[in-house]
This record gives sequence, C-alpha cells and structure tokens, in this order.
Amino acid sequence: MPSSSEPSLDKSGKEITTVGFARFGFDSEVSLDVLRSLYLRAHYVKTVASADEAAKEADRDDASTSYLSKAIYHADTKSISYTTLSRFPPVKLLPPSQRKRILVTGGAGFVGSHLVDRLMVLGHEVTVIDNFFTGSKTTVSHWVGHPNFELVRHDVVEPFMIECDQIYHLACPASPPHYQFNAVKTIKTSFMGTLNMLGLAKRTKARFLITSTSEVYGDPEVHPQPEDYWGHVNPIGPRACYDEGKRVAETLTYGFHRQDGVDVRVARIFNTYGPRMNPFDGRVVSNFIVQALRGEDMTVYGDGKQTRSFQYIHDLIDGLIALMNSDETRPVNIGNGDEFTIGEFAELVRDIVAKVQKEDGVDVPRVNIVYKPMPTDDPQKRRPDTTRAKQVLDWQPRWTVQMGLEEMVRYYKAKMVEGSL
Ligand code: NAD
Ligand code: UDP
Repeated sequence: MPSSSEPSLDKSGKEITTVGFARFGFDSEVSLDVLRSLYLRAHYVKTVASADEAAKEADRDDASTSYLSKAIYHADTKSISYTTLSRFPPVKLLPPSQRKRILVTGGAGFVGSHLVDRLMVLGHEVTVIDNFFTGSKTTVSHWVGHPNFELVRHDVVEPFMIECDQIYHLACPASPPHYQFNAVKTIKTSFMGTLNMLGLAKRTKARFLITSTSEVYGDPEVHPQPEDYWGHVNPIGPRACYDEGKRVAETLTYGFHRQDGVDVRVARIFNTYGPRMNPFDGRVVSNFIVQALRGEDMTVYGDGKQTRSFQYIHDLIDGLIALMNSDETRPVNIGNGDEFTIGEFAELVRDIVAKVQKEDGVDVPRVNIVYKPMPTDDPQKRRPDTTRAKQVLDWQPRWTVQMGLEEMVRYYKAKMVEGSL
C-alpha cells in the first residue's frame, strides 16, 4: 500500500479525512481511508516464492488485508492464483426505505468505478452494465459477489431491462484516442445508448443523470464557459463523434423530459483525473505521470499554450451525487476552475513526480519536456464557470491539483511496483 506521512489538505489548508456531504436528503459522506483502501491497494497480496508460503498468506486474515484481493503472485512461475474475497468492504446498513436501486452504465470505467465504490459504501444496491471497451472488471472486482452488487456485461446500444430508482448513464469512451478509435461506434453509443437508457427511465420512472462534457462547448469563444453558452463545435472533425454525440445525447435527454416527463439531470464534466484512470488511454494527466515515472520524455502537443482545468475524482463524485439528488434539471458544469497551460502543467507534474520519488528515497534524473504536433481541433482554452453548481448544489471543488496529483502518482507507482503498469 503506498503511503505518505503528509495529510491531504484541501484548498483552504484543512485536512481532508472524508469526502461527500449531506445534501437534498441524501448523505454521500464516507471516510477517505475507506475509499483509499479500495483504490490505493495492490492487486495481489505479495510476492512469495513457495507454494507453502502462498497458502499461509492466503489464509492470513487481518484488518488491513481482509477485503483486499487474496490473489497470490508466484514469483517462480510468474503466475497469479486468484481466490475469492474472505470479506467484503463494510457497507452502511440502510433501512429499505432509504436504500436505492441504482444503475450505473459504464460503471467499470474510471469515473464509474469511483461512483460505484461510493454508492456501495453508502449502502445502496448497485447494478453496473459495461461492455468493457475501455473499462475493466478489475476496477469493481472487490464488489463481485456482494449481495448489493451486480455486474452485467452489456452494450448500451442494445436495450436493457431492470427495475431501478436512479440511472447514472456514463457509458461512453472519454479519451480522444479511444473515442476516435471507432467514431461510428462512439456516435451509436452516445445516441442509441442514451435513447435506450432514457426509455428505461421512462418505463421505470427512475431519475436519469447523463455525464455530458465540456466538449459540448467545442473550441470555445467564451471564457470561462457558463452553461448557457451554446458552444463552437466542428461537426465534421475528428472530435465530432464525441462532441456531437454528447450534444445530441443532451437533446434526447431534454426531449424525453419535455415530451414524457422523464426526471433528468445533465452534468457537464470538465477534465477529471485520478487513480484507476487507464494509464495508456492517451489523456494528458495519465500520459505525463507515466512518462515522468518511467523517465521518458513528456510529450506536450502544440506549443503547450492551450489551457485546461483539472478536477480530482472525489470532487466530481460529490458533484454528480449532489446533482442527482437535487431538483436541478438544467445542465450543470462540474469542474475545477484552476486553469493551467499544458506547458505549465507538464512542469507541475514533473515536479510532483520528483517530490514523491524523493519522499520515497528514489533518486531519478529530471525528464525532458518535448513538443509534438497539435491534434486537429484541439480546444485552445477551457475553464468551467461553476457559479450554477455553487448556487444550486452548494458544491465547489475541495481538492487542489497538487494534492490530487500526488495521490495519483502514488497509485501509478504502486502499479509499477507490482508489475501491472
Ligand atoms: P472511461 O473510458 O474510463 O469509462 C467509460 C466506460 O464506459 C468504460 O467502462 C467502457 O467500457 C464503458 N462503455 C463504453 N462504451 C460502452 C457501451 N457501448 N456499452 C456499455 N459500456 C460502454 O471514461 P471515464 O473518464 O470514466 O468517463 C465516464 C463518463 O464521463 C463518460 O460518459 C464521459 O464522456 C464522461 N466525461 C468524463 C470526463 C473525464 O475527464 N474523465 C470528462 C467529461 C465527461
Ligand atoms: N496533451 C498533451 N500531451 C499528451 C496528451 C494530451 O499535450 O500527451 C494535450 C492535448 O493536446 C490537449 C490537453 O493536453 O490540449 C488535454 O488533452 P486530453 O486528451 O487529456 O483531454 P481533452 O483534449 O479532451 O481535454
């Protein structure tokens, strides 16, 4: 388990010990340590050489490892023996009147798996549907078999039947290389997937939340971007399958709301990062950290003057849950307003990786920052105007970019040590 002796501090310098809060009759607060025990953990217990030692390790059941995967790595044969969990992570015991049946599409992805952890720890019944295009079973494997949890391999392009109270509709690849890998499939997922999930919401009368994106603003001519800005999107460029896909998904959402009375929520998410982000998905935060940790050149696209604002995963999950349980049916931006040029950001990541390595006693040479061609239609600037989220959700980001990055560096370092990165 990676560790740092320093506490995580929020933007006002206070120690962060819990995430979430009670809003709109829904309490989303949980201990940060509990969540960390789910994502800042090794995939298998430890490297052991002999079969005897492995068996003993698998039988060990102390508080710190009781709900970690008991998989044992056999160094001699470079193989893993998987075992089922001896105990699931503790979840709140909610009375049936407060326990919700929640469907999370795309729940095996980066954002989805953190949402699932939070909802499970809070004591709700969670069903994940995912086609594992960019997500992985391992992100939620610690819940498989739990009575409150179900994992279904399903593509949202096909209809899906279930009884539920709330639907968080996340299923859609989010990184530019992934969503451009098969542009037609991305549009189908955005349109048909959203159509199917809205149809389900209509039948079940479930509340429906879609994770839209700052990409609906395209390469914006208004800065920062408020929700009433209509955007500046190239409809035929390489990013259009995602940008226009999400725009039409929003249009569908409001169609079902106006015509059929479906209870909808629209979150426009700005760049978010954190543990469990696929290290090879090509997004800037994962690219920079992995490059710096491996001692490779850090690749800045273009002249590095384009800007982005980066939000840590726990702030996003707080915002999504608050929005879902609020009465706000208009789109709401959820993002962090701390804006960096990509060139500045590369330097920041390089410094933070060096700081964490130094704390761990690792002496590494300073990596170079190199410049590569700018991708087509890459937005020149992006920063959320989060006035609405503050007013209607009483939500604002707590995590500094520095704190979040340190935690993410520790997560990737642990993955490298265990050999899975
Ligand atoms: P991700 O790629 O890690 O997760 C997406 C998940 O959806 C994966 O598990 C994938 O396998 C699944 N999926 C994709 N197509 C599917 C299909 N047809 N049927 C079923 N499952 C499918 O991405 P993420 O960063 O976790 O993004 C989650 C959501 O948040 C997406 O809707 C994305 O557009 C939105 N979003 C994310 C960010 C961000 O910075 N992370 C920013 C804006 C919007
Ligand atoms: N980027 C970069 N180097 C990388 C990956 C991305 O300079 O290795 C840039 C990219 O061109 C964009 C910004 O970082 O300007 C954010 O890219 P990302 O793919 O993370 O998200 P998005 O463009 O969708 O905001």
